[in-house]
Amino acid sequence: MQPGGGPTDYDPDAVRARYRAERDRRLVPGRADIRDLRRDEQFARFRDDPFTPFSEREPVRDDVDVVIVGGGIAGVLAGAELRKAGVERIRIIDQAGGIGGTWYWNRYPGVMCDVESYVYLPMLEELDYVPKHRYASGEEIRLHLQAVADRFDLGPDALFHTGVAGAAWDERGARWRISTDRGDDLTCRYYVLAVGILNLMKLPAIAGMEDFGGCSFHSARWDYGYTGGAPGRPLTALGDKVVGLIGTGATGIQCLPPLAAAAKHVYVFQRTPSAVGVRANRDTEPDFARRLAPGWQQARMDNFQAVMLGKSVDEDLTDDGWTHHYAAVHHPPRHEGMTLEEYLRGGEELDYGIMEEHRRRVEELVRDPEAAAVLKPYYRYLCKRPCFHDEYLQAFNNPNVTLVDCPAGMERVTDHGPVVDGRQYDVDCLVYGTGFEAELTPLFRRAGHDIVGRGGVTLADKWSDGAASLFGMMSRGFPNLFVMPAPGQQAVVTVNYTQLAVLGAQYIGGAVGLLDEKGAQGNGVTVFDVSAAAEQEWSQKIIDSFVDASGVMAACTPSRINLEGHPEAMNPRNGNYGRGLGDYFGYRRLLEEWLDAGDCEGLEIVVRSDPP
Ligand code: NDP
Repeated sequence: MQPGGGPTDYDPDAVRARYRAERDRRLVPGRADIRDLRRDEQFARFRDDPFTPFSEREPVRDDVDVVIVGGGIAGVLAGAELRKAGVERIRIIDQAGGIGGTWYWNRYPGVMCDVESYVYLPMLEELDYVPKHRYASGEEIRLHLQAVADRFDLGPDALFHTGVAGAAWDERGARWRISTDRGDDLTCRYYVLAVGILNLMKLPAIAGMEDFGGCSFHSARWDYGYTGGAPGRPLTALGDKVVGLIGTGATGIQCLPPLAAAAKHVYVFQRTPSAVGVRANRDTEPDFARRLAPGWQQARMDNFQAVMLGKSVDEDLTDDGWTHHYAAVHHPPRHEGMTLEEYLRGGEELDYGIMEEHRRRVEELVRDPEAAAVLKPYYRYLCKRPCFHDEYLQAFNNPNVTLVDCPAGMERVTDHGPVVDGRQYDVDCLVYGTGFEAELTPLFRRAGHDIVGRGGVTLADKWSDGAASLFGMMSRGFPNLFVMPAPGQQAVVTVNYTQLAVLGAQYIGGAVGLLDEKGAQGNGVTVFDVSAAAEQEWSQKIIDSFVDASGVMAACTPSRINLEGHPEAMNPRNGNYGRGLGDYFGYRRLLEEWLDAGDCEGLEIVVRSDPP
């Protein structure tokens, strides 16, 4: 039987027409317009850190081995692996007030990771830690990342509440020179960008939103001062407040149940419904840890990744919506002798079965048929990031929750709240669960500062027509610079981002170990650059493996996955190593072999006497 139970009443033309109609209702001009929060003075307060008080400090002048920008999963793991390689002086710089990256900022009520905790939380074996639940709360993840940082002593030298203002390669000094918005002046032998993929909040540009007279904030800066409570605890100050929640993506659906439990009323403004599958969270079984053999976490991550890449495994250890549905639609069965057309049709039918299952789930859980109709997702499963939750849909049965259908967005916001179809919704508080400039936002924009390499060329200039790299982690003209691998950057994509971060960190740690060894042998410091031939060859591999899926993706409801309705704008240079989501295992093998060989193939290496 197919996932989804096998469609019985499947009429492909009717389904396609319905999906297209739903897409067209949403493909309206201006739907993707956003306010650039880095420049927007009116909404500058949306960036303030509500969690850690800002404290003054003297500017720092220092010369260190490595500066890492970003103290999230990527930065912490890079720091940990660099420590293992013997690197002593490491400074993490982050705009946040502490470790955690996305898990530092996203402390909204209900925040959880819907990727299984046993594969998502890194270094569980090294820290001898077992997550409390199958899916971890944001707070547990943040504290765990803090524990990793503590284990590798990354905290004391970190510069928090600090933004990098600029980074430039100093040829004479054979170092990067980093300036910050707090007047720091740092130099380092290696510069590591671990800036994350969800670090730029997306705030829509809705007419009149600056006139709103109540309290408003983005979900990544939750204002517990206003709502009361804390992550994982009831929102004690909302009993007499009407809340408007904008956004029903992975964040919005997690926010709703605690809001519904606390507020006088919640209006949920929904542009596109998410496909919300079963999460089935549960406590970790008491004997979970006892059953594990050394190496279990990497093996479990690999098992998850293998299933996600459509490879056969003896047992699906994760066994959840990702491995059942997401993996299935990305790898429909291809039997011998099947034509391409048959294969594509089979994939479409499989997808339909899964979406029908989601639509039936809405019907079963939501009592009001009108609300249920609006909550049913009509698009292909692969069009949007899937969601998983056990309480979201049921929240619409609460009398204090009203779903407001606004497929084309809201008309405007007034001083009282949003206006949809001419109706004013009076609210005390507006929560923007409107997401982030994600995956395909170019690295140089996510980094937020000029990265100036040899000859005064910036990374933004060099990558203006798309990425150019070796392994998605180094780029010619930017000596001694490493970039943690990420989507849109000539590496691979993993649903469990941690798995890619582990790989990137191990590579960077290993590479710095090799490079430093060469420096020590030559009594100096190593300067590496990517050779023109190696970069050309890698970039060409990426371009050659690009699969143009714009035909399928153009039929999707707009989302960031299909570039808001313009999948044809996908740049093959920003693709992956290997087709589709990329060949994770092949990529890993290649990096491991590179490290094992020890000859740093593809790099031009010079050992310089260390200038005073
Ligand atoms: P998303 O981009 O997924 O969702 C944003 C929501 O805001 C969508 O519902 C969108 O509607 C809506 N929206 C945007 N602009 C407007 C507007 N002008 N008017 C009305 N509605 C609007 O952001 P999330 O923060 O939900 O998730 C971002 C990413 O963060 C996820 O994809 C995931 O990678 C990560 N995440 C992971 C979690 C996990 O459990 N692992 C949990 C939470 C987040 P529309 O769909 O129509 O565009």
